[in-house]
Amino acid sequence: MAKPLPKKQQQKIAQERIYTLFQQAEKMFSKDRALAHRYVSLARKVAMKVKARIPAEFKRRYCKYCYRFLMPGINSRIRTRGGKVIISCLECKKFMRIPLR
Ligand SMILES: [Zn+2]
Repeated sequence: MAKPLPKKQQQKIAQERIYTLFQQAEKMFSKDRALAHRYVSLARKVAMKVKARIPAEFKRRYCKYCYRFLMPGINSRIRTRGGKVIISCLECKKFMRIPLR
C-alpha cells in the first residue's frame, strides 16, 4: 500500500479541491441550484476529512446554518452595519455576522 501523504500536503490538496468546488458551485448556481448546494457540502466534507480550513473568501459564500451556496442578490443579502458585514441567508432566513477588519 502506498504511504499516505503528509498531513500538510493532504490539506493543500484539500484546499485546492475546495477552491474548485466553490468555483463550480458559482458556475452551476444559475443552472442548477441543488447542484451548487451539493458542491458546498462536498467541499465541507473534503475540508473536514483532513481538517483543512475553508478559505475565508468562501466562508461568506455559504450559509453556516443550512450550508447552501449563497449568491449575493439572489439568495443572500449583504449589508454592513456597525463595522460588521451581515449576510442574510434567504433560504433559511438566518443571518451571519462577520467583523470587518
Ligand atoms: Zn441558510
